Amino acid sequence: MSQLSPALKQATPVIAARAEGVHVYDEDGRAHLDFTAGIGVTSTGHCHPRVVEAAQRQVATLIHGQYTTVLHRPLLSLTERLGEVLPEGLDSLFFVNSGSEAVEAAMRLARQATARPNIVVFQGSFHGRTIGAASLTTSATKFRSGFGPLMPGVAIAPFPNAFHYGWDEATATEFALRELDQLLATVTAPADTAAFIVEPVLGEGGYVPANTAFLRGLRERAGRHGILLIVDEVQTGFGRTGRFWGHDHFDGRPDIVVTAKGLASGFPLSAIAAPTELMAKAWPGSQGGTYGGNAVACAAAIATLEVIQDEKLVENAAERGAELLSGLRAVASRYTPDATRGIGDVRGLGLMAGTEFVTADGRPDGETAAQVQAAAGLRGLLLLTCGAQGQVVRMIPPLVVTAEQVRQGLGLWSGAVADVLG
Ligand code: PMP
Repeated sequence: MSQLSPALKQATPVIAARAEGVHVYDEDGRAHLDFTAGIGVTSTGHCHPRVVEAAQRQVATLIHGQYTTVLHRPLLSLTERLGEVLPEGLDSLFFVNSGSEAVEAAMRLARQATARPNIVVFQGSFHGRTIGAASLTTSATKFRSGFGPLMPGVAIAPFPNAFHYGWDEATATEFALRELDQLLATVTAPADTAAFIVEPVLGEGGYVPANTAFLRGLRERAGRHGILLIVDEVQTGFGRTGRFWGHDHFDGRPDIVVTAKGLASGFPLSAIAAPTELMAKAWPGSQGGTYGGNAVACAAAIATLEVIQDEKLVENAAERGAELLSGLRAVASRYTPDATRGIGDVRGLGLMAGTEFVTADGRPDGETAAQVQAAAGLRGLLLLTCGAQGQVVRMIPPLVVTAEQVRQGLGLWSGAVADVLG
């Protein structure tokens, strides 16, 4: 009998039969409040009627157009519609299927456009699992270990991870930028550096928001040295953080944006966007793929954009996100680390919120985080962890979550933390 790979690590024991809005229903009909959104994907809620309708209509019309053979209307319409939300000047799009593939495309473009080999990433980064994207990933060794050699030409600079360093944000930012300058002076000369790639909020690395001084610092250095600034909005894009793009909070105008996840409500679709003059430096034929810009995925993405706009989901993410964060802080205040363990930090941006568990001496406590995540699961709240040691429990509900559902989630969370920490 065949089985799924034992290397797939299952975060919950749930077998989903169906899902609707912010709920996943298992095969016994039990409802689970889904604060994972399929790792930040189903932003419009599971099976939003408008997304379902658009996809069903498209399935019956044209499933696979294959954009290097024939073009199709959903792809052309989506390209046009994205122009309304993309950062100014990023008017050229290339579609693929996953975040990792889009990161690969951004990296290829940056190298082609600059004729420089090296990429700078920031400690704690997650950019994907293909060998190229894994080479840019520094959030945990499990994403790198045992399948090297990884791609050469990657230099790692610090991210302003204030809690990790035990500093305030200004000190952490000053340190990160100073070390970046040092890296450019000692390891990868600007003339060899094609791009910086950065997440506006470290995702898999532990839900750590960047800040304005840091992104401005990157933008300024990128401009000064002819280095491209790639912003990986795979997890933070499409309203997740309470602004349309995560970098909208921080003023870090990108040269290339990478997007996936929230783009198509669960259909496999991702894209990079760049100014046409930049994109044109990729020679014809160097971009492509069999499935990129699938017609059904594009139709779902158009409906997704409409729902985000019509239902004011970006605004909802900001408002519900603030409620979620303050509720998580209230719970955390009851569990300051004692003789054994506790909650060291709560942080986030919009509907991307994380609670970091620590041992008595302040070290990352992945064991406790896993126990709380499992306890929440037993109470009917689906959650994921992140961070190098899995020490952060994160909440990424669909952007359609209501104030009542946030309260309900916080109630389940409070119970789960009490189950473990007393
Ligand atoms: N970049 C970021 C910031 C991500 O969070 C992820 C996925 N968690 C990826 C890239 C990779 O996306 P995918 O899993 O679709 O390849």
